[in-house]
Amino acid sequence: MISPACAGVGRIRQGYNKLMNNLVASIRERYQHTLDQIASAARKSNRDPKEIRLVVVTKSQPLDVVQSAIEAGARILGENYPEEGVMKIQSLAPQSGVEWHMIGHVQSRKARLVADHFALLHSLDSLKLAQRLDRFASEANRVLPVLLEFNVGGEKTKSGWDASDESRWSRFLPEIDTLLELPHLRVHGLMTMPPLETNPEDARRFFQRLRLLRDHLAAQFPQADWRELSMGTSADYAVAVEEGATLVRVGTAIVGARKYKLESEA
Ligand SMILES: *Cc1c(COP(=O)(O)O)cnc(C)c1O
Repeated sequence: MISPACAGVGRIRQGYNKLMNNLVASIRERYQHTLDQIASAARKSNRDPKEIRLVVVTKSQPLDVVQSAIEAGARILGENYPEEGVMKIQSLAPQSGVEWHMIGHVQSRKARLVADHFALLHSLDSLKLAQRLDRFASEANRVLPVLLEFNVGGEKTKSGWDASDESRWSRFLPEIDTLLELPHLRVHGLMTMPPLETNPEDARRFFQRLRLLRDHLAAQFPQADWRELSMGTSADYAVAVEEGATLVRVGTAIVGARKYKLESEA
């Protein structure tokens, strides 16, 4: 005989499953919509939509949202805070085929977590961090794929090498040269987080600047791979794709508003 208490637990479980199914369905719809928008922006600029990968940004989202995003079809997840990311990776480890990217600024004392757990670091922003990551990657017996972050708008609050003024691009070349020699890091391209604009069209010139910088670095250092351009968020990913993005990082447009904010993001 089922006791009233058990029946109550059953109802709660049913209610929970229904909520989760709704969450998966709504994330799936927004994920598919984003893929469609990426594909039409690609075609508009004569690009093959297959060149562009969608990173679903799940920073500050609870585990059940991340779980739902995976069920909804997300294949690459982006996290901003190493400890939060590692907690999620370990909790959801049995989910095969999901790739975890670190997209936020990495403090040097968190470098080992990144070297140990992430498939790609988008936000490598200093030679000093590169040297630390290289050491930890070596200890972990791996080569860590990275993108170099550039500050294309010259904002004081943004990380990355200052690339706002083209006449000064030669300044960071010696550091990039040293970085490319590190045996346990492999550079695959560039990343940027341009100034927040109310109109996505206003972000276009910053995306163009990152692409020009990529072409410049590819000419200076032809031995390295400069294929990837990580640029564009919920607000402006379609413009970023038109300007050559190969990775777009979309959070709120797919998984909704973040449930909580960490101090570093406030
Ligand atoms: C939060 C974040 C994103 C995603 O922003 P949304 O507006 O939620 O799409 C992309 N890139 C970086 C570096 C971020 O920190």
